[in-house]
Amino acid sequence: MKQERLGRIDAAIQRALANAISTQLTDPRLGFTTVTRVETAADLKTAKVYVSVIGDRHAARLTLDALTHAAGFLRGELGHAVDLRHTPELLFIEDRSTEKAIEMSKTLAQLAAAPEVPTAEQVVAFLQHWDSFVFVSHVKPDGDTLGAGLALGLALRAQGKTVAYFQQDPVPRNLRFLADTDKVSRDIPQALVDHALWVFCDMSDAGRAGEYLPEIPRERILVIDHHLGNTCFGAVNYILTEECSTGTCVLHLLKAMQAKITPEIATCLLTTIMTDTGGFMHSNTTASVLALSAELIEAGAQKEEITNQIFANKRFAATRLVGDALRTARLEDDGAYCWSVVDEAMFALYGADSEDTEEIIGHLRAVEGVEVAALFKVFPDGVRVSLRSSGRINVQAAAARLDGGGHFRAAGLTFVGPIEEAITAVREALRAEGLS
Ligand code: 5GP
Ligand code: MN
Repeated sequence: MKQERLGRIDAAIQRALANAISTQLTDPRLGFTTVTRVETAADLKTAKVYVSVIGDRHAARLTLDALTHAAGFLRGELGHAVDLRHTPELLFIEDRSTEKAIEMSKTLAQLAAAPEVPTAEQVVAFLQHWDSFVFVSHVKPDGDTLGAGLALGLALRAQGKTVAYFQQDPVPRNLRFLADTDKVSRDIPQALVDHALWVFCDMSDAGRAGEYLPEIPRERILVIDHHLGNTCFGAVNYILTEECSTGTCVLHLLKAMQAKITPEIATCLLTTIMTDTGGFMHSNTTASVLALSAELIEAGAQKEEITNQIFANKRFAATRLVGDALRTARLEDDGAYCWSVVDEAMFALYGADSEDTEEIIGHLRAVEGVEVAALFKVFPDGVRVSLRSSGRINVQAAAARLDGGGHFRAAGLTFVGPIEEAITAVREALRAEGLS
């Protein structure tokens, strides 16, 4: 048989096995396993499957036992996934020659020891050791949290990896045009809960993912973010606070991976940038942000579609809700603080929902002389507060006083209690940060 064809069979078997091991096997003896190589015999009767296992000799032996025990099942899975006259018998062998496992332990140890942010190359080395991934976006998702995860997910899926997306809330109407959003769910297969690497995008703490998040051990968490005050809750934390969006952090990783930036990936990434720069208006729109955006448009990003979905395409209900919120806005502190409230009666009156509130805060912030704007959104389970600053007052610090977070100029929090108390507490927090 031609060497070339055998090579293709080896690669197909490797991919199918990596997938089946990470998604189908639940044997507790199974450790963190990477299929490093497959060698199929020329007569297709047998295939040697080399695997590396993280941990000590004992962990490796247990994993080999588990794989050998599951060999018949895995062979059956292969039969479905790979089109061959004869599905080879599988012989599992521990791969120590590549010393991938040692490398991985070293990567982890280095990253844990280094107080500074890991390099993109270090994060990619860590990523490449996994076969399956779950991308996590935060509650009340925006274009950054979702677009960043989708972009990296699309790139890893193109490499044959298994990818899922966890998000507690449904995909907002205006982000459904992004590729792979049909795969976003709050229900993740148990095998991925047990084995995948969970990648949190755009979150300063795990609580932002919501209460439906399954419990995931720290060693299977990667955090990619650009928020101030990130709690670094992952085994690896790629936190670049100078970046305009989590999406640009992902773009640095994709470049280090030498991944192909497809038009779909480029559209996801440009969405992250346009969301977090307010359509290239905020102060985080640096020259390098514009240069990266130009690269993404060259790669096929649908700029016009993004502009339309994020900044136009509003429902009539939203326009009427905005009108009401602006009509009832207050101006305090000698014109430095502008705020308004939307409550359930207003949502009901216009047939609007929380997705229809996004535009309001920008109008409040744009009033001349205003240093801080606040929008209070009253829901049954608490008051969601959005804060925006013109640049003098740190609203992230003010939000943090009330267990919220965000950035210097854009932050948020949830206040559990009556709206009057929320208004007083937020005013006090802002004054403590210099509003007067
Ligand atoms: P928004 O006002 O658009 O909901 O949020 C503005 C910024 O603050 C976003 O970067 C968002 O991630 C962050 N943020 C909003 N709410 C919270 C919160 O409850 N906790 C934390 N840590 N960050 C928040
Ligand atoms: Mn962001």
